[in-house]
Amino acid sequence: KTPASKKPEVNIGMVGHVDHGKTTLVRALSGSWTDQHSEEVKRGISIRLGYADATFRKCPSCPDPDAFTVEEKCPHCGADTEILRTVSFVDSPGHETLMATMLCGAAIMDGAVLVISANEPCPQPQTKEHLMALDITGIDRIVIVQNKIDLVSREEVMEHYQQIKDFIKGTVAEKAPIVPISAQQNLNVDLVIKAIEEYIPTPHRDIEKPALLKIARSFDVNRPGASPDALKGGVIGGSLNQGVLHAGDKIEICPGRLVDYEGRKQWVPIQTKVVTLLAGSQSQEEITPGGLIGVGTLLDPIMTKSDALVGQVAGEPGKLPPVRNAFTMNMQLLERVVGVTDESSVEPIHSSEPLMLNVGTATTVGVVTSAREGGVVQVQLKRPVCAEKGDRVAVSRRIGARWRLIGVGSIID
Ligand code: GDP
Ligand code: MG
Repeated sequence: KTPASKKPEVNIGMVGHVDHGKTTLVRALSGSWTDQHSEEVKRGISIRLGYADATFRKCPSCPDPDAFTVEEKCPHCGADTEILRTVSFVDSPGHETLMATMLCGAAIMDGAVLVISANEPCPQPQTKEHLMALDITGIDRIVIVQNKIDLVSREEVMEHYQQIKDFIKGTVAEKAPIVPISAQQNLNVDLVIKAIEEYIPTPHRDIEKPALLKIARSFDVNRPGASPDALKGGVIGGSLNQGVLHAGDKIEICPGRLVDYEGRKQWVPIQTKVVTLLAGSQSQEEITPGGLIGVGTLLDPIMTKSDALVGQVAGEPGKLPPVRNAFTMNMQLLERVVGVTDESSVEPIHSSEPLMLNVGTATTVGVVTSAREGGVVQVQLKRPVCAEKGDRVAVSRRIGARWRLIGVGSIID
């Protein structure tokens, strides 16, 4: 007999243009709906990163690919299915103003499913922008899903498939499998599971290193008006990159919070303790890397509410990466600005311009203090980040009314 569920061990991003079916596919794969916030439901887009876990299973007696399912009983023969592994899906918004949210999610993705709707020409602007973001953040384990094939003829599916092929040529997704499906009609979802199993392996993680959690969500779980003695501490959510976390561990959160100290504002690390650990919707005594987790702490929930701690890093006190108010990076510019209909070429970086920088799950604005030949760029940050040398930086510039991805950097100092 197989256990009812397993801890998630790999994080998979759902990316792609708005309305192409990301949330519908997450639901088909996990039975849960990621658009949980009332505001999201109202606006019909996933504003915040949604979490959903799915346990992939295989029927011991049916042939491939029919054998792949998320059901405990095989839908074809009724046999008990066996657990392959549990994955966490990071749903991302396709709306173009929310690239920062997508990039925050990308920081905790081990691989991605790029959803492309078959009833629109490929690529749509955010299809292109999200693929570029995967490339920039170094996510090369990719499965492409050609969705909504129920809406078009077989010939149109073939033609659209060729458009996808042409689009991914020469990109990080060039070798990705393309799976034609209907997420809404649950058609070929077994093939998606098979492709994810083959193309997005669970990465190796270092559990010997100090615990390091990238914070992608933070909440106040208390209902309004809860009595003070029943109040639960603030909850942070994200993914453990390395190390192990136990209930009872002391943790530090950096850069922390801004306080007045001797007449000036300073960022000081937050110290707290792990009270509860949640993974795969179950409470755990210990958590290893992989999967999206929730950590209940002793913090005042005011500090964690409404994603206030997103972009920060939590882990073993004294062992976190340095907090940087400024850094120098080696930068490569894209040739063209993606995500817009008329793609202009990317102008060189100039001194004193503001850039949006995504480092891990953090989004900050940096003003360029020096931009030299050869791509060495120095920035002074509006909000500090906790980052290691060598960490990747996704760089965006304000073009028109929006921040557009223009390049990638690597922190050198
Ligand atoms: P997202 O913005 O990428 O998360 O897209 P959603 O999952 O919210 O889907 C957008 C719309 O497309 C919804 O009305 C879905 O019901 C619909 N949809 C999603 N997948 C399919 C599909 O395979 N076939 C059809 N006909 N509609 C779909
Ligand atoms: Mg959605």
